[in-house]
Amino acid sequence: MEFFAAKGLQRIRGESVIVAKKELVAVCKRLYAAGDLPEDTPLDIIKGLQKCSVKPFCDYFAHQLQDATKASLNLTSTSASKNDVMSEVNEILSEAVDLYHSLCTTKQWNIPKGHKLGAAVGSVTLSCLNCGGEHGLKDCPKPRNEDQIAKNMREFFENKRE
Ligand SMILES: [Zn+2]
Repeated sequence: MEFFAAKGLQRIRGESVIVAKKELVAVCKRLYAAGDLPEDTPLDIIKGLQKCSVKPFCDYFAHQLQDATKASLNLTSTSASKNDVMSEVNEILSEAVDLYHSLCTTKQWNIPKGHKLGAAVGSVTLSCLNCGGEHGLKDCPKPRNEDQIAKNMREFFENKRE
């Protein structure tokens, strides 16, 4: 998760929030099931969502981050508990996708050309999280295997971590 916070949306082809959401939900569910989902995951996700080339989107999540940071400072006085981390994650990502959709419809989702998979990713080659083929997950012709995707995703994150 720290990886997403550090590299953010710009890591994802076309900065597709939908792809990001799928990937993040898969990882979080996995960690959550293992009782291993850090409490500050929602903050990491918001930080990652801010790292986006589309300004209205960044601004929105910069604002969200302020609110979330405030909220996390007085955890004891709110209903937020460990059990809610997963639903918080879902909530944030659903908002992100809604915003993404509305920005797409109003043609405000403009990714600078040549930006996608740029320097940040370096020499890493694209490999499908489902089957390992040379395409993105969303282009995979094979049936989705959620367990496999979650596993590959976790390995991917772990390899990226310095
Ligand atoms: Zn594939």
